[in-house]
Amino acid sequence: MRCVSTRSPRGPFVSLSDAIARGLAPDGGLYVPERVPRSRDVLAPYFEGEALDVASVVRAAFTFPSPIRWLDERTGLLELFHGPTAAFKDFGARFLAESLARLGVRSTILVATSGDTGAAVGAAFWRRPGFRVVILYPDGRVSPRQAHQLGAFGDNVRAFRVAGTFDDCQRMVKEALAARPDTTSANSISLGRLLPQLTYYASSALEVERAGRGPASYVVPTGNLGNALACVMARDMGLPIGDVVLATNVNRVLPELLETGEYRPAPAVPTLANAMDVGAPSNLERLRFWHPDVSKVVSADSVDDAAIQATIQRVWKEHGVAVCPHTACGLEVLRRRRAKGTWLVAATAHPAKFETVVEPLIGQKVEPPAALAELLARPAHADPMPPKTEALLARL
Ligand SMILES: *Cc1c(COP(=O)(O)O)cnc(C)c1O
Repeated sequence: MRCVSTRSPRGPFVSLSDAIARGLAPDGGLYVPERVPRSRDVLAPYFEGEALDVASVVRAAFTFPSPIRWLDERTGLLELFHGPTAAFKDFGARFLAESLARLGVRSTILVATSGDTGAAVGAAFWRRPGFRVVILYPDGRVSPRQAHQLGAFGDNVRAFRVAGTFDDCQRMVKEALAARPDTTSANSISLGRLLPQLTYYASSALEVERAGRGPASYVVPTGNLGNALACVMARDMGLPIGDVVLATNVNRVLPELLETGEYRPAPAVPTLANAMDVGAPSNLERLRFWHPDVSKVVSADSVDDAAIQATIQRVWKEHGVAVCPHTACGLEVLRRRRAKGTWLVAATAHPAKFETVVEPLIGQKVEPPAALAELLARPAHADPMPPKTEALLARL
């Protein structure tokens, strides 16, 4: 299917394969498919006539399940953390890596991360011929296990701990991408990361419908809005999905937009749900492209660190289930607005990735899943880097 930039809806048009290979549109906008088709098969219509065989990309990329864990009759966790780096980012990163490799792209992938993206991208491109990955993360602002994961790859994947914030890392990557045409971005603005996320909303919504309990409504822990946008797109395609509710931490740009109608990007504030510490959600531009009045398609609520901690304890006590701080935001938002019908909360990361937060609250060890344990058993190394683009360019 043809794609356009959000900033020039009348074209130029590019193929979806080109949009995936390029990442960001040349005018600085985000690529979007020219329309959202009505179809229950969520990927095939976009890839019709493309150079990519999407079925084989999916087979190669999605080697792990996304099961629903029911907490009670009508509340489930959609577990998106069974991939190699134990967060939902594995779906997008692995799909992107398979797609780029099949499209013949050979490149240095630059990625700024607040924790989970860097690991997912590192794992997806690790030892893949023709690719190098350079990961930048803010030193001291990711969880100890996230930091270990980022530095544990080696070979063609290198991690740098930047003496600055996530925003510094993102700025350095943007400037380096502009200065070096042999580099490619792997952040969440890539269509190759957004589209694969539709699949788990479609399959879970259909599962709920088959059980006679549809439509399923969703609460999605939200930062850059990529995951929640995929849920809205799945509903736009006609999947049996009810409400879509965004759960943010105290970085309240989206709840405020929905309350006041005004979009006020702000510097990100650090929270326990660090993968959602975002002050200017990048995918908002896509959501507004299709839905100029965002309040007609989603609602939102924000959760502070104290409520995150209380929720982790409550869910452990009531259900014996340990959840990560991001998932806790989703569960707390659901508790506040308990509405009729079936609700799924996207469980975006495994709690073992955030053991320094979760373990003291539940008074138990949280065992890492096998793939994560394997990475954690490897030695890790990250070089320090000042928050300057010249320092990054010198290492490329
Ligand atoms: C990235 C991430 C989020 C936020 O997802 P967006 O698509 O950026 O909104 C939430 N939780 C976890 C664990 C993440 O890694």
